[in-house]
Amino acid sequence: FEREETEVSAQEKKNQVIPDTSPIVKYTGVTKSFGNVEVLNGIDLEMQPGEKVAVIGPSGSGKTTMGRMLMTLEEPTSGTIEVDGELLWHMEHKGGIVRANEKHLHRMRCNVGMVFQHFNLFPHMNVMRNVTEAPRKVLGLSKEEAEERAVTMLTKVGLEDKFKMYPSKLSGGQKQRVAIARALVMRPKVMVFDEVTSALDPELVGEVLEVIREIAEEGEMAMMLITHEMEFAKEIADRVIFGADGKIVEQGTPEEIFDNPQSDRLQSFLQRFR
Ligand code: ADP
Repeated sequence: FEREETEVSAQEKKNQVIPDTSPIVKYTGVTKSFGNVEVLNGIDLEMQPGEKVAVIGPSGSGKTTMGRMLMTLEEPTSGTIEVDGELLWHMEHKGGIVRANEKHLHRMRCNVGMVFQHFNLFPHMNVMRNVTEAPRKVLGLSKEEAEERAVTMLTKVGLEDKFKMYPSKLSGGQKQRVAIARALVMRPKVMVFDEVTSALDPELVGEVLEVIREIAEEGEMAMMLITHEMEFAKEIADRVIFGADGKIVEQGTPEEIFDNPQSDRLQSFLQRFR
């Protein structure tokens, strides 16, 4: 009888997790232009907590711009982006002009982490300082607290013996793993990985993908993976988004997208990776 009860409560627990949760990320009618060039042309996208979404598509189709907007590095021309139910840009009137409320933006920024193609490490800081800088300056942690978190993250990415090294002395794969630890240490709710293996020598790609795979398996964080690594996307992603010409052209499970593409556009795109 006791066992039955345990089974029931496990099932109930499962039921509580499955029903529609509110999205952790929500793009609504997002457009983005640079000058006269419209790069994104009406993006609607929801990501669930813990969901791993791969974004694929031709070069120049606006994938990076989508990620940079989530990281608040670019502002949409129109439309809204919400993280955990709150607008990223909360606009206010100041001195007769409408501008983003900086205090709000600052707080929202902590929810999102990003890893870039070209690492973007601070060259004049050693590995430990690269990772502890934001938790100290932005979250206000003490040196000890920040270092404790950093040790955990650097160990997770396999760099427990590199704390004192400077970026110039590290391989591309090691630099990228520092960049991943630096983003993780902020404990974001969602992480954007933007072509993180594109600048790496082929033999260094594996070690970075392995770290991302491990983070993905831990499960709790939502991840947007902008990538040309189709096999990796297939393996990691819960959902794959195919973007072209500033729009989401097709989306589905990795099986739907890779094994049964519907649009001509996606079919011809995938041909190039066969
Ligand atoms: P993808 O990641 O799919 O390759 P991007 O988002 O990097 O696409 O770029 C989409 C388009 O926007 C490209 O034509 C690019 O040149 C342009 N673009 C991106 N950022 C800027 C910028 N800051 N200023 C002007 N044009 C930009």
